[in-house]
Amino acid sequence: MEIVSRHPGYIDLHVHSTASDGSLSPLKIIELAKKIGLRAVAITDHDTIEGSAEALDRPQSPFLEILSGIEISADFSSGTMHILGYLMRLDDFSLTQTLKTLQEARATRNVKIVQKLQELGVNIRYDEVAAFSGGGQIGRPHIAQVLVHKGVAKSFDEAFRRFLKKGGPANVERYQLLPAEAIQAILQAGGVPVLAHPFTLNAKNETALDDILAGLKQAGLEGLEVYCPGHGPTNTALYERLARRHGLLMTGGSDFHGAAKPDVRLGSGRGNLRIPYRLVEDLKKSRE
Ligand SMILES: [Zn+2]
Ligand SMILES: [Zn+2]
Repeated sequence: MEIVSRHPGYIDLHVHSTASDGSLSPLKIIELAKKIGLRAVAITDHDTIEGSAEALDRPQSPFLEILSGIEISADFSSGTMHILGYLMRLDDFSLTQTLKTLQEARATRNVKIVQKLQELGVNIRYDEVAAFSGGGQIGRPHIAQVLVHKGVAKSFDEAFRRFLKKGGPANVERYQLLPAEAIQAILQAGGVPVLAHPFTLNAKNETALDDILAGLKQAGLEGLEVYCPGHGPTNTALYERLARRHGLLMTGGSDFHGAAKPDVRLGSGRGNLRIPYRLVEDLKKSRE
């Protein structure tokens, strides 16, 4: 495998497939990753390991390493908290059960949102929403698409603003795991829990972020997603500093969604993302 070590290449550890809200199937993602010469990739779908399992259930290429992955949404009132997991045993019973509960909660929530819209006098049916999802996980973006398609809202943003946003007339709160529960679910399956895109926590300053990380670390967090397209150089430096201070592994990824987020490319994000393979080596070392 000498050729591989001479060309260490880059990685992408944050990728969504059609198993959640991405537009490419797991197999298409692997094809693309090979084409652009990535050295390692992890499919990290929202609350499901199906995409990851499909990618790993194939004969593996010696040039592209596939890590098991997931992204679990956690309940966090002042912002969005996503916990990534890597290197889990995908057949772990308790993880599978937890994810099943989360999937069911997602599904009932969508039905309730459609009901609320109907009560508001909007002509919309659940099967129309399902048709927009292309067979993957259904979410509010699909409901917004139907509202735009039917002329109820002029744009995607307007659909969210008028109906679907947090506190909006058609929104329904979704059952989510507490941060410590999400971390434990990943740990129990042998995985490495990592806080995704820390900027979405909306922490007001470094001290606030410090406190959140200290709490998560105590709950078992082992890594921080330092490299992602939403982080400028200043933030990247801040997250590197925080990761070191809290003894957290560093990871990175594009949060690629395919056509659903056309400005973000696999591997390179908005153009300048370069995540070195040694981060994968660090992840694996933590499990040796
Ligand atoms: Zn996320
Ligand atoms: Zn993501």
